[in-house]
Amino acid sequence: ALQIRETRALATFLLECFKDPFVMLNQRLHLDARIGIAAAKATERSPDKILSRAALALSSAMKDPPGSVRTFDAHDAAAAQEKVLLDGELRDALDEDHLFIQYMPIIDLTANTVSGFEALVRWDHPEMGLLTPALFIPMAEESGVITDVGDWVLTRALREFSQICASLPGEQYLAINISAEHLRRKDFEDRVLQHLAQSGLAENRLMLELTESLVIDDFAGSKTVMESLRQRGVRWSIDDFGTGFSALAYLSELPFDELKLDKRFVRALGDSSEIAIPQTLVKAVLSIAASHQARTVAEGIETAQQVEKLKELGCDLGQGYFFAAPMGHSDVADYVRRFNADA
Ligand code: C2E
Ligand code: MG
Ligand code: MG
Repeated sequence: ALQIRETRALATFLLECFKDPFVMLNQRLHLDARIGIAAAKATERSPDKILSRAALALSSAMKDPPGSVRTFDAHDAAAAQEKVLLDGELRDALDEDHLFIQYMPIIDLTANTVSGFEALVRWDHPEMGLLTPALFIPMAEESGVITDVGDWVLTRALREFSQICASLPGEQYLAINISAEHLRRKDFEDRVLQHLAQSGLAENRLMLELTESLVIDDFAGSKTVMESLRQRGVRWSIDDFGTGFSALAYLSELPFDELKLDKRFVRALGDSSEIAIPQTLVKAVLSIAASHQARTVAEGIETAQQVEKLKELGCDLGQGYFFAAPMGHSDVADYVRRFNADA
């Protein structure tokens, strides 16, 4: 593990690299760099939280001259203030339309067709550039802004996707990630149904993704909402399956339609080194899904080898950079047409 002093030395070294111009296509490019550092104890289990703290440190470094380094300090009152600032910024981002959604195709591995798309939110930050959700969703969850972000994603994704549907060859579904706080809101179900009705998308084309740890935290509440929306045709997917130490006994009582196998398992497949353990785990997940009449989606597929292995093991669906990176809404219909033509 790196000590904070060593990390600072590393930061200084990295910043040195930006003193000289970079040469690209015969052009000399001068790039500015600033660094945000976050420290964590070895026992800290959430890399997302550490990353979002580093993003906060970076957001304050952005106010300093190029070459500045800032370290996040949770005990620092200023850090708390920055958190409020970033929350405020996130609210402004919603108002000013700095958030946008990208769509990642989900492929039917057997039929080799596009089954659906997962909506993934991004923040086009005026100073920091493109921020991935891992950098701001954990903070938004802590502060409660997540319900506004979640509502915005639901409305926007449903509207965009139903517009795309007119030119889609096929009945692809739309998957949307839902946060714990959002699901716990009393009016969550009403809002989903209301946004659905406004968009005109059929209920059975909406898939909501929950992570397993989220469901276990408020099991009874989650189960009620899941059952009730499912009666209306909305489907449920358990995201990042296999990473949250889920209690399988709980899981078996939930009405889910899909299990998403986390990319950590997929990464280990097709890697010639030691594939016995991940293979056994993948098989276990597939049989849990099968006993629920649920389908399995493998996340983070990056190689043809992984596709072959997953097909061999009987995994139904998959997504990952091997097929396509997340894309803007205007590219979705074209992607489906091209994919089907090539298949
Ligand atoms: P997730 O739902 O598990 O989404 C999959 C993440 O894996 C996405 O990252 C996607 O870009 C990435 N990914 C997919 N295929 C590959 C691959 O082949 N290789 C690699 N290295 N990565 C791949 P992204 O977009 O950064 O999203 C991260 C997480 O942020 C999501 O994980 C989800 O938990 C959360 N998130 C995204 N959008 C929303 C949202 O609208 N609401 C909520 N509550 N959370 C969201
Ligand atoms: Mg997801
Ligand atoms: Mg996932």
